[in-house]
Amino acid sequence: MHRLISLGIACLCLTPLCLARETSVGAGSPAAAHTVVVRARALIDGTSAQPRANQEIVIQGDRITAVYTAGTHPTPAGAELIDLGSATVLPGLIDCHTHIFLQGEVPAAGGYDVQLLKFPAAYRVARAVVAARRALEQGFTTIRDVETEGAGYGDVGIKQAIEAGYIPGPRMFVVTRAISTTGGYPLEGYAPEIVVPKGAQLIDGPVEARKAAREQLDYGADWIKVYMTHRSWVDEQGALVSQPTLTLEELKAIVDETHGWRKKVACHAYNGIGLQRALDGGCDSIEHGLELTDAQIAQMVKQGTWLVPTLAVYYHDQDPPETPGGIRDRKRVAVHGVSFQKALRAGVKIAFGTDVGGFPWSDAIAQEFPRMVEFGMTPMQAIQAATSRAAELLGKRGELGTIAPGAYADLVAVAGDPLADVSVLQHVSFVMKSGNVFQRTEQSVQH
Ligand SMILES: [Zn+2]
Repeated sequence: MHRLISLGIACLCLTPLCLARETSVGAGSPAAAHTVVVRARALIDGTSAQPRANQEIVIQGDRITAVYTAGTHPTPAGAELIDLGSATVLPGLIDCHTHIFLQGEVPAAGGYDVQLLKFPAAYRVARAVVAARRALEQGFTTIRDVETEGAGYGDVGIKQAIEAGYIPGPRMFVVTRAISTTGGYPLEGYAPEIVVPKGAQLIDGPVEARKAAREQLDYGADWIKVYMTHRSWVDEQGALVSQPTLTLEELKAIVDETHGWRKKVACHAYNGIGLQRALDGGCDSIEHGLELTDAQIAQMVKQGTWLVPTLAVYYHDQDPPETPGGIRDRKRVAVHGVSFQKALRAGVKIAFGTDVGGFPWSDAIAQEFPRMVEFGMTPMQAIQAATSRAAELLGKRGELGTIAPGAYADLVAVAGDPLADVSVLQHVSFVMKSGNVFQRTEQSVQH
C-alpha cells in the first residue's frame, strides 16, 4: 500500500530522476532511462592499450552513451553524478569458467559426492544463489557457468531469477548439465549394483550425443559443455596422462548440432588424445588446456580456438607431495604454466576463467589475475582477457567488457592502479550492473 502511494506521488513530479528513483526499488530491477554520470580519476576501458585520466562516463538507462575527459562537455541536465574520486574504473569483469553449483568441497566435508547424494535440490540452489551474489560483489558482472554438477537445469532458473530482478547476480551464460561418456564422470567407485546419480549427462555413440545436445539446448543452454578428458595421472615416464572420453564422431555430432543453433561448444580438455579430438572436432573453447603441444597451439591459432586457462585453481587442495595424487597435482601446475606461456606467445586467443566453485566462493575470484601476470601476461592483457576478450568469446563484443558508447553500463572500481599491481582487482569497491549501483563502499569515494 505504501509503495502505491509513493509511486503516485512520484508520477506528479515527472522528472526522469524521480521516476528512476521509484522504479529502481528492488535489487536488480532494470533502471529507467535517467542519466547518470560516473567520474573517475583513471579509466581502463577494456579495449584501449592505455588508461585515460579524468574521465566521465555518461549512462542512460542500462547503457553507456558517452565517455569523455571531465570538463570537456557540460554535465547533462538532470544527471545524477557519481564521483568515484581517486579510484580506477574498469568494465564489469567476466569470468568464463565458473560453477555456482559447486562450493569448493574438501574431502573431509564429504567432497563432491555428498552434493549429489545427500543435499536436497533446494539446498544446492540456495547455495548457488549465494555464489551468484558473491560473483557480483567481487565485480564479476558476467559469468559463463559451465555446468551444474548434477543439479540439472538449475542454472537456467538462477539466470531467470537474476534477469527478473528477484536475486542479485551477474549476467549468466549457462551450459546446463554438460556431456561426458560412460566412465567419464563422477559419481564413481560405488557398487555396480547401486545406481548413483552422475554429475553430467553421459552419452555413448553419436546418436545419444546429438540427442543430449538437443535436449540441453531445448531447455535453455547458451553453450554446450563437453568433457573430452576425465581421469588424469602421471605415468612411469613422469608424463601427465588424461583419459579421453568422447570419440571424434560423438563430439562432431554435438558440435554440428550446436553450431546449427548458432551456439558454441566448450570442451574441458587437459592434454593428449582427448584434447586433440576436441580440436579436430571443432570445439570453440578449450577449458583448462593444461598441456598443449606446439602442433596443438598452431592448430588453435589456425582454427581460432579459444583457450580458457584456469591457473590458480590447481594450487588449491593438492594431495601430499609423495602420493600419486600429489605428484599429479604438482605436474598439472607445472605443465599448465608452460603451456600458457607458449600459447600466449603464439597468439592463441585467451579468455579469463577461474573454475571458482572448484575453490570456495569465499575466496577471491580475482586471484587468477596475478597468476596470469606471473606466467607472462601484462596486467593490461590479463584485464582485457577478463573484459573485451571474454566478451568476444561470448559473442558480445562491444556490448560487454568495454566502456564505450553502446555497451551495457557494467562498471567496477578499485582503489589503486591495477596496472601497477593487478592484485588490487581482488578488492572491488564499486559495482554497477546495467546502470544499477549494486555496491559502493567508502573506499571508492575517497578523494
Ligand atoms: Zn570447471
